[in-house]
Amino acid sequence: MLSEDLIKQCQKRIKPYDCEGFVYGKGPQHPVVMFVGEAPGETEINNGIPFSGRAGQHFNQYLGYLGLSRTDIYITSAVRSRPYKWEKRRGKEPRKYNRTPNQKEIAAHAPILDAEIKWSNPPIIVPMGRIAYWRLLGNSPRMDEVTGVPIETAVRFLDDWEKNTYSFTAKTYTILPIYHPAAVLYRRSLETDIYEHLDELKKLLF
Ligand code: URA
Repeated sequence: MLSEDLIKQCQKRIKPYDCEGFVYGKGPQHPVVMFVGEAPGETEINNGIPFSGRAGQHFNQYLGYLGLSRTDIYITSAVRSRPYKWEKRRGKEPRKYNRTPNQKEIAAHAPILDAEIKWSNPPIIVPMGRIAYWRLLGNSPRMDEVTGVPIETAVRFLDDWEKNTYSFTAKTYTILPIYHPAAVLYRRSLETDIYEHLDELKKLLF
């Protein structure tokens, strides 16, 4: 589906930054919904499967709750490589840790998500977490104010690959933001909210 040439160009665009590996988004054309995450972690860059690490276990539970399987949905993220930082934590050897992608890294891979949206044409897009939200909608509200509330809106695409500026699509999509599945790893109490947000998604799906 995605041209290898586009992928090569985007891999070149992200080269200057501390990012490693490359994980393809997965799913059919015309999925029932597209989920957009932030960036893969260590597990994903080793096995090439989006959301297959700790956050992925929660993501799989969400799919089970929704009665969906991975073949029904498209799963991708704002950045397709793993942004890392070297860190020495107490009592441990220095090693690479995941970090949040920055705006330049997001712009470097933006044409990939643009092409995935165009190709798969999802009726519903679910940004998971603030990075995916910002990438698609261009602003950063508090997530607790926007999660679980569907909106009908255009989404951003990178219209100038040199200046890294975005425009909005002519087409609109139903967008239902939810928390990133990793959020419950740090705040267990979010779980109840997340399942309420998934109930909203169920209403849109069925
Ligand atoms: N977070 C993401 O956004 N994507 C993955 O594949 C894993 C964790």
